[in-house]
Amino acid sequence: MRSKILVSACLMGLKVRYNGSDKKVVAEILTRWQQEGRLVVHCPELAAGLLTPRLPAEIIHGSGDKVLSGCAQVQESDGQDVTAQYVLAGWLAVAAAQAEGCRFALLSDGSPTCGSQYIYDGSFSGVKHPGAGIAATLLRQQGVEVFSEQQLEALIRRVHQYEAQGGE
Ligand code: SF4
Repeated sequence: MRSKILVSACLMGLKVRYNGSDKKVVAEILTRWQQEGRLVVHCPELAAGLLTPRLPAEIIHGSGDKVLSGCAQVQESDGQDVTAQYVLAGWLAVAAAQAEGCRFALLSDGSPTCGSQYIYDGSFSGVKHPGAGIAATLLRQQGVEVFSEQQLEALIRRVHQYEAQGGE
């Protein structure tokens, strides 16, 4: 069996980040997986109707789980509350993963949406803290195994293990 992987569009070189840039990861395995039709390339924020470029957004004093429980907000750098759009983005990532049967996700770290190991602290001063964004949190809640771009080797090992065990 060939498992499918949801991938942040910016990691595949699409210029969809808030500032119009990408975070392309150059890796032979991603090229191969894409040729094999395993990758579902998705930008949750664009899917939710946000535009590129857009103002940077951060979770204020919390992480994805706090936003989802109504205890934290997502704000743009001008102070506008964009929580609803970012929660929608998270759920659209889940919908994309479920529609394509993705068991794994490779997401761009640091984002209030796709971050899985760290996010920014809401001060818009470049301060990081451990935590996950909204899409990564929701995907994990739905049973998708989420990896950041720094964890590509771990993802490769996990995919091989999963497939060697017949999808378990
Ligand atoms: S929402 Fe995710 S895929 Fe889209 S630009 Fe941000 S980190 Fe990349």
